[in-house]
Amino acid sequence: MSDALFDRARAVMPGGVSSPVRAFGAVGGTPRFVASASGPWITDVEGRSYVDLVSGWGPAILGHAHPEVVAAVQAAVAKGPSFGAPSVPELELAEEIVRRVPPVERVRFTSSGTEAVMTAVRLARAVTGRPLIVKFAGCYHGHADAFLVAAGSGVTTLGLPDSPGVTPAVAADTLVIPYGDLAAVEAIFAEHPGQIAALLTEAIPANMGVVPPPAGFNKALREACTRAGALLIMDEVLTGFRVGLTGWWGLEGAREDWAPDLFTYGKVVGGGLPLAALAGPAILMDSLAPAGPVYQAGTLSGNPAAATAGLATLRLLDAEVYARLNTNAARVAGMATAALTDAGVPHTLNRAGNLFSIFFTANPVYDYASAKTQDTAAFARFFHAMLDAGVWLPPSAYEAWFVSAAHGDAELSTIEAALVVAAKAARG
Ligand SMILES: *Cc1c(COP(=O)(O)O)cnc(C)c1O
Repeated sequence: MSDALFDRARAVMPGGVSSPVRAFGAVGGTPRFVASASGPWITDVEGRSYVDLVSGWGPAILGHAHPEVVAAVQAAVAKGPSFGAPSVPELELAEEIVRRVPPVERVRFTSSGTEAVMTAVRLARAVTGRPLIVKFAGCYHGHADAFLVAAGSGVTTLGLPDSPGVTPAVAADTLVIPYGDLAAVEAIFAEHPGQIAALLTEAIPANMGVVPPPAGFNKALREACTRAGALLIMDEVLTGFRVGLTGWWGLEGAREDWAPDLFTYGKVVGGGLPLAALAGPAILMDSLAPAGPVYQAGTLSGNPAAATAGLATLRLLDAEVYARLNTNAARVAGMATAALTDAGVPHTLNRAGNLFSIFFTANPVYDYASAKTQDTAAFARFFHAMLDAGVWLPPSAYEAWFVSAAHGDAELSTIEAALVVAAKAARG
């Protein structure tokens, strides 16, 4: 049935999908159409259920269709799904974010992470009066033109270093350096004095697979930006409220006493509906229209149904839930390394907080170039064996695995059994 649906989809949608990685291009075969999802399980149109380790790429942090989130959203939709006017759910969600993250005084909602980062860059250029931005190779910040330069995620999967349709002029305003390389950071600021508006980084790079920041790296970026008069934009679209109560910043910046100038959030913050955010201190954020001159807008921005989903999700995320997520991540990561080691498959596990990924290479992975040393054909065999054994993994070797708080012993047993079979399949 998925095959027939995919044929129909390809007839009316480019590649049959609304976002490239879903098409299984990196692993071969036909994507399964999803009929429903509940807790840690996802069910395809043929009625087969899988233990889900994608979790909607993050938002299903409590498991899919959490009853309290569903009830809150149903009530919100019944009152009208979109007003195009101020409403209380967006206000309460903004207050919740400000309460959790002390450096944040103002929040602007968008419908996607891409828009949030795009706006952060516009704001940085406006307040600094400078044209250039710096990003790290393999970091993904959404699909805006300025970010499709050595980006990770689907771009990595497709093997496109760049995208047609991005003009050389736009690409030239984005400078790209290797991740984790402080000497490169210093050098780029020295080569472009007074020209760099902002340095963008993923709080934990997780779109080339998970690459934990070296100890002190984010703090050193903060200091380098301050010295150069550039803003530090910390992209927490993936990590925000997934790795802890206050995102990755809470695990690092709050302890080391530093903060970025701007944060971006997405994925978890929308509770599964289209919502993302740009956040930071009033002194910067109040440059956004209508408080200030930097234009940004959105018909569906701060949508009451999406804000309600986000708020209901955040209110359920307490220390106990994060403890469970960390335990689940440690257990699944441990099972995967054990199975691959037993089968003699070269691999590297990278983990930061409850985010982890397995690289099919014996080399340590610390940046984009080292991530690309992996054997993607081995991953494809592994992926399909996992799917056949009832485990739903990201269909690319360059993605994080997402556990949820709903994964319990039964699901972990299914994963463990699948891993033993899939590790042998990966060996080829
Ligand atoms: C997913 C992601 C984005 C893009 O968000 P969309 O909602 O897909 O536009 C940006 N930055 C990071 C770090 C992401 O993981």
